[in-house]
Amino acid sequence: MSAYDVDLFVIGGGSGGVRAARVAATHGARVMVAEEFRMGGTCVIRGCVPKKLLVYASRFAHEFADSAGFGWTLPQAPVFDWASLIARKDAEITRLEGLYRNNLANSGVEIVDARAVVAGPNAVRLLPDGRIVTAERILVATGAWPTQLPGAPGVEHAITSNEALHLPRQPRRIMVVGAGYIAVEFAGIFAGLGSAVTLVHRGDRLLRGFDHDLQDGLVAALGQQMDLRLGRQLARIDRTADGLDVALTDGETVQVDAVLLAIGRLPNTRGLGLEEAGVKLDALGAVQVDDYSCTSVPSIYAVGDVTNRVNLTPVAIREGHAFADTVYGGRPTTVDHSLIPTAVFSTPEIGTVGLTEEQARARHGDPLIFRTAFRPMKATLSGSAERMMMKIIVDRATDRVLGVHILGEGAGEMIQVLGVAVAMGATKADFDRTIAVHPTAAEELVTLR
Ligand code: NDP
Repeated sequence: MSAYDVDLFVIGGGSGGVRAARVAATHGARVMVAEEFRMGGTCVIRGCVPKKLLVYASRFAHEFADSAGFGWTLPQAPVFDWASLIARKDAEITRLEGLYRNNLANSGVEIVDARAVVAGPNAVRLLPDGRIVTAERILVATGAWPTQLPGAPGVEHAITSNEALHLPRQPRRIMVVGAGYIAVEFAGIFAGLGSAVTLVHRGDRLLRGFDHDLQDGLVAALGQQMDLRLGRQLARIDRTADGLDVALTDGETVQVDAVLLAIGRLPNTRGLGLEEAGVKLDALGAVQVDDYSCTSVPSIYAVGDVTNRVNLTPVAIREGHAFADTVYGGRPTTVDHSLIPTAVFSTPEIGTVGLTEEQARARHGDPLIFRTAFRPMKATLSGSAERMMMKIIVDRATDRVLGVHILGEGAGEMIQVLGVAVAMGATKADFDRTIAVHPTAAEELVTLR
């Protein structure tokens, strides 16, 4: 009989925590998981899933516009209803949350709807009632939270992606600040849905760290959909009778109905009792872990965004699974954080895996670069100005594909499959001997010479 109430206490019911809890329970552990808000965490409740539903909604505008070139006449101009979309999206999120709860219960995991904080290496305190639960191990999977912009007067009038998914009305005019995944995705959503979008970014390139050709292609495409203001910063926000006046550091003022700050996310470790228990955090507050997701306290582990390794849902899931297999399945498992394929659901979409051209030049000397930019077939009849870009980066010495970068429709779907090839160590010759699927955009990837 164990000296503890449970074998594993998971703090946070998001993607990483839920996967770890279920797998640990399947391996025979007695598991309890605490969630202070809604089961499903950032991805399901306020991230990937609702965002992607809104992305789908926003792209109908392009489809309606393109349809005329294919002989369609719409009986009347399409009308979009924000309230209807939000209600339908909310119903889907509630359905998914129910699935998460059922799956946990079916795996034998006990769910506690409460905030939990660490009360020692083997204890958590449930709030607000203060009940202590003892656990042989604790897994911290509390995710991250949007960063606020300190110091700018009136910044309290701004929202983050959390609120953007629940606005009572669609803003007629919206400013998005930042140029990461969230900024470019939400800017595209609102532009597609018909809001006038101003994207403000302090740098002169979108999506820091992405391949330069992707960045350039995205700037060109977004520039046709919205007002891009690069190289400047939000200085102050004033509420007026007509909305918000936003002053920028270049002296310009922009009138909008909403300002969406998408300037990064910070690990959710505040007030969790981690440092008091001896868990080391880094300067940003991220939990420091070893290859097995173990913290500086041997009984406390952490997975997902709270560790600020690679902040993507599938990575958190993999880390949670690896933790459970290592500790409860007798199978020590680490997660390979290299060669992770990823998509940005901007419009046009981005898919990328492996090294950027800049990284390949730094690490592999003089790589071979294969690049194509073209008008997709659909644009011939629709007359749309859409362009696609594809790029393959190859190690000159070994012929190995070091990176693939795609901008355009379907990039997210393509990159998942390309990720398999690149992870397997595919060479350019492997790509070349693969017969094209015709007519597709993806066939360019095997015909690039
Ligand atoms: P990112 O860290 O990707 O981007 C932050 C952006 O804000 C950058 O453009 C950055 O500029 C800018 N910024 C940072 N600080 C300031 C400041 N003080 N003033 C003005 N601008 C600032 O964060 P996101 O919030 O977009 O996304 C968070 C994480 O969520 C990402 O790392 C990603 O892993 C994940 N995510 C993944 C998605 C997907 O897979 N499709 C979708 C959404 C999120 P600069 O470049 O100059 O530093």
